[in-house]
Amino acid sequence: MDEFGLIERIRRRAGARDDVALGIGDDAALLQMPAGQQLVVTADTLNSGVHFPPETPPADIGWKALAVNLSDLAAMGAAPAWCTLSLSLPEASPDWVDAFADGFFQLADQHGIALIGGDTTRGPLSISITAMGHVPAGEALRRDGAQAGDDVWVTGVPGEAGVALALWQQQRLDVSVASADTVLEYLRCRLARPTPRLAAGLALRGLATAAIDVSDGLLADLGHICERSQVAAEVLESALPTSSMADQVGETELFRALRATAGDDYEVCFTAPAALRAQVSESMACVAVPVSRIGYIRAGSGVQLVNGEGTVLATSRLGFDHFSVAGQ
Ligand code: ADP
Ligand code: MG
Repeated sequence: MDEFGLIERIRRRAGARDDVALGIGDDAALLQMPAGQQLVVTADTLNSGVHFPPETPPADIGWKALAVNLSDLAAMGAAPAWCTLSLSLPEASPDWVDAFADGFFQLADQHGIALIGGDTTRGPLSISITAMGHVPAGEALRRDGAQAGDDVWVTGVPGEAGVALALWQQQRLDVSVASADTVLEYLRCRLARPTPRLAAGLALRGLATAAIDVSDGLLADLGHICERSQVAAEVLESALPTSSMADQVGETELFRALRATAGDDYEVCFTAPAALRAQVSESMACVAVPVSRIGYIRAGSGVQLVNGEGTVLATSRLGFDHFSVAGQ
């Protein structure tokens, strides 16, 4: 199969949108932006062996490659609209492309996102996606708006993807097939099929003062909010979400050790004024997204995880960094 055959297999799966004036097939796409909105653009690459184990099923790779991009749109409070897909493939396998498209379009169609172009080349397996959305001008959730006195919140249960990764490294979790065990399958999906928190991001417009998606570890990512906002954060260990799933595989301690620093969860960490506490809880309940209030913003710099006695257990420097020795 040649490049154009592969592109055609992808093109025929792409969903339509009224605001796509010209989609796949020309030199570039033409998109109609709604009036009064700002374009929100983000890009992420997944490399085989770096961002996912090589034995990951292609459908999971397709889902995750899009999910990590949509997670960035969620953290900006953007409504997702369009994406491009650049594929580097070791061989022109129609079966691989079809399976990849199954996962990719399952997620794209869930959110009404149109694939509007891309590139297809031969090389080591790598997937680069650019996702685009929009937000009313001035309403995006940025990293630089946190204020002393704000609450710190996080969606979902950060740390479960880290537990899944550890189980895979210990050869206790096979990521290449769905597990018959419901708890193991839940954990496998936390790693292989993260849920981008798009509804939460939209609901947080006008409530959150700052937001970021948790891809590199809760403390490290909250640290980015603090840097950009020139404030400090205290995270209370007793307020962090617990994981009944980690408990059920006997990894309560591992989960507790990982939850503030492990990456790959794609939850959203955000700050909001303490006066809006009830509204935040209500709006997250409306979109059925579990949320925990885990700490507060104060004057200063850096992030500290503290226990009940006020002892500092960890700081924001303990996240995942591709280029640091500690991160490898
Ligand atoms: P060009 O030579 O102009 O880059 P290509 O032959 O690479 O054109 O692509 C032809 C069309 O197919 C373009 O509209 C391009 O955006 C689209 N396309 C190529 N690869 C992909 C892909 N993996 N997913 C979606 N669209 C793609
Ligand atoms: Mg091209």
